Amino acid sequence: MEKILNFINGKHLEPVSQSYIPDHCPMNGEVYAHIPDSDERDVEMAVNAALDAFRIWKKYPAEKRAACLFNLASLIEKNAEEFARAETIDNGKPITLSRSVDIPRGSANFRFYAHALLQMHTEAYPMDDVALNYVLRQPVGVAGCISPWNLPLYLFSWKVAPALAAGCTVVAKPSELTPMTAYMLSRYIAEAGFPDGVFNIVHGLGAKAGNAIVSHPKIPAISFTGGTVTGKHISSVAAPMFKKLSLELGGKNPNIIFADCDFDAMMKTTLLSSFSNQGQICLCGSRIYVEESIYEKFKQEFVARTKELILGNPLDEKTRIGAVVSQAHKNKILGYIELAKKEGGTILCGGHEARLEGPLKNGYYVMPTIIEGLSHTCRTNQEEIFGPVVTIQPFRTEEEVLEMANSTMYGLSSTLWTNNLKRAHRMASELEAGIVWVNGWLIRDLRTPFGGMKASGIGREGGLQAIEFFTEEKNVCIKL
Ligand code: NDP
Repeated sequence: MEKILNFINGKHLEPVSQSYIPDHCPMNGEVYAHIPDSDERDVEMAVNAALDAFRIWKKYPAEKRAACLFNLASLIEKNAEEFARAETIDNGKPITLSRSVDIPRGSANFRFYAHALLQMHTEAYPMDDVALNYVLRQPVGVAGCISPWNLPLYLFSWKVAPALAAGCTVVAKPSELTPMTAYMLSRYIAEAGFPDGVFNIVHGLGAKAGNAIVSHPKIPAISFTGGTVTGKHISSVAAPMFKKLSLELGGKNPNIIFADCDFDAMMKTTLLSSFSNQGQICLCGSRIYVEESIYEKFKQEFVARTKELILGNPLDEKTRIGAVVSQAHKNKILGYIELAKKEGGTILCGGHEARLEGPLKNGYYVMPTIIEGLSHTCRTNQEEIFGPVVTIQPFRTEEEVLEMANSTMYGLSSTLWTNNLKRAHRMASELEAGIVWVNGWLIRDLRTPFGGMKASGIGREGGLQAIEFFTEEKNVCIKL
């Protein structure tokens, strides 16, 4: 059985407490690894190492810093299959998804920020012969990076890569539910050339190790991706300490389908935006609004094609629906399906867990579920379920669907299907969301700002914004 270790100051270490937490494999429910139950003592060691290393790292020439990031990207690519299998076993996602999305996007993050740091520049403001202002952009110090379980390596790398590129040193904590690929990454950090103490990984529980990072007085910036309730708690701790905060939180995203769309392309992508990663992507479109004139046609085909999705062993290449991440999460999803029934919803397909045969019989599987007949204001349509569960609802007018789409506390992403260009622009401008996809979904250009409005978060990741978050600007004014 694998024993995961912390990575502090260039060394793999046991937690000070010597206690470990079981890591369950969602495919079969078995404990297959143990992870450190780290506490504030481990975080303290990591912060001290990161503070020491910061003196060196912030002065590292940009090319040398970039080389470390490039090397790490290459090491992920070289070992991509091993990372993909590990991600699937740890998280339950289909292996095809780990191979095509999680791992390539993980390495792409390191590569992108290696390139980006070489392009950084700052402004100068000459005041004729009075003075010259120039702006220094300097790393904030030790960055705290906390990431969730749904896209483990991908979202972990999306935080640590810009932090390291900015010249910060890092204390990072992956989710306790999916620590494996971050642990594997820690084995390559020294080989990639990072000096000891620059990149530290502490494993453990959010409420213990995570909280110790958030409340540590020597960590001036926290980049967090996770649930809105946790984000609120983190803000309440970090804001009074005047820390910089980047929060990427939950979503309840609308998928709006007009009758004039390309029906086949829409259907193919809507199956993905509904059920990819068992619906456990913050960008999944869980509220599907369909223009009345094509509602029945949409419903019949969507239900039929959902029933064809193969649920099964995540390591099998044919599998499209794998396991959800944990027993507790499975129970939460099933609880929401019961709530939907109580709220008057009709289950069109799924609506229950799935039991596989043989060695996978204790895995955490939920059938992809489509529900209709609910109002847009009910809890099922307002709260994030984060599972393979979508609702469908007809609409008549743009105004009506806009009101429904904008009715939740969230504002992460929206998907819009129409071939009417003017309508696409009109709707995109009115939708309350940080990202609007028109006739597509999950298309990513790393230069673009990524993040949510309202309760979906504060700040933007991606692009240069992510590097800038980990820096402070300082204006130097020289009187001439
Ligand atoms: P959580 O909020 O439960 O946890 C996220 C991370 O925070 C984990 O590492 C967790 O550790 C840690 N954590 C938990 N409590 C604390 C605390 N008190 N102090 C510090 N750290 C803490 O989210 P999930 O892991 O359940 O992830 C799913 C959520 O993430 C969904 O709501 C989803 O929408 C959101 N998400 C948002 C994205 C975005 O970009 N906006 C992208 C992907 C997901 P532990 O696991 O040990 O509890």
